[in-house]
Amino acid sequence: MEERGISKEELKSFLKEQKQKDLTYRKVLSSMCTYPHEIAAYAHNLFLDSNLGDSGLFPGTKAMEDELIRIIGALLGNENAHGYISTGGTESNIQAMRAIRNRKRKEGLQQMNIIVPKTAHFSFDKIEDLLCLEVKKAGLDDELRVDVNLVEELIDDNTISIVGIAGTTEFGQIDPIKELADIANNSDIFLHIDAAFGGFVIPFLDAEYQFDFSLDAVSSISVDPHKMGMSTIPAGCILFRDELYLADLAVDTPYLTTNEQCSLIGTRSGAPVAATYAVLKYLGRDGLRAIVDNCMQLTRMLVHGAKAMGIYPVIEPVMNVVTLRFPDVDRVAKALEARGWRVSTTRAPKALRLVIMPHVTEDTIEMFLNDLENVK
Ligand code: PLP
Repeated sequence: MEERGISKEELKSFLKEQKQKDLTYRKVLSSMCTYPHEIAAYAHNLFLDSNLGDSGLFPGTKAMEDELIRIIGALLGNENAHGYISTGGTESNIQAMRAIRNRKRKEGLQQMNIIVPKTAHFSFDKIEDLLCLEVKKAGLDDELRVDVNLVEELIDDNTISIVGIAGTTEFGQIDPIKELADIANNSDIFLHIDAAFGGFVIPFLDAEYQFDFSLDAVSSISVDPHKMGMSTIPAGCILFRDELYLADLAVDTPYLTTNEQCSLIGTRSGAPVAATYAVLKYLGRDGLRAIVDNCMQLTRMLVHGAKAMGIYPVIEPVMNVVTLRFPDVDRVAKALEARGWRVSTTRAPKALRLVIMPHVTEDTIEMFLNDLENVK
């Protein structure tokens, strides 16, 4: 750091320059994030100094967090769920697995494992490392949902949790959560649902899926307001059916205004909490449904246009994620990048992956299809 600070003007012009180097979301089809809703941005800025790590100082923000847990819980089948606003799907998944690991450790279990689908987000690789749990990966069926028979085969005496994904990162697929719930019920095993992406999509789809607390065996859910919930980054949410799991996460907090803390991080911004509260209250279920409807309509438009060129999806999209097959997908991805698009590819089966987030418009899809026609 320099001895003397620089002028505001100089700094502002530098910041503008840096901002211009960042991409806008205009041609980004690879991300599960989007522009936050303007009401979320407004609320975020109003609560920049709020720290929920010491929530006794910020009772206004804390009340919004408590209400949010009720609102998001109700959306996912249980308005009496318990939890907190995390930094995202990674923290929520870590905390769910840490809660059941701590519970089982207290019961005397030493070597523990969890079973996740092969399509699980890489946060489970971090979990394996951080929590010293073996993560067993179950194979998939033809539609890229976890194969429940393979899950059942992997269960042993040291299995402490099964994980189902409601909206897989790569394919946007929903695992057969009802079948996983039956297995969890019969084996008396904790069932965590990773709905980081799907939690704000599935309740608003035309088709109905059982994936949330309305299934008795579902113990916890991750759901991210900073993905399809139109909030600011970082906003995730971890929900537990049973309040005691929060106690399994708690540590004593001497010298703060509260006696204990169950979040993974200490100092915790209240700004994304205010942002999430504001946008969910402002949009309501109708507003979120309209956003999902629009994304799904554009998803269908994209798939229709691709099929007309003889390009087919790996699975018919269940939500607003499209994966397209090409014999030489890396070449296609590179050619699209050269035209300014940001796309990604899946691992297995290898395909072009496109996420149709709320920043995507009809014009975007038309432009994209036009470029696809030229590079395919
Ligand atoms: N779980 C799923 C299904 C995801 O798609 C993602 C991110 O894309 C995560 C977890 C991790 O979320 P975050 O990056 O917010 O930590």
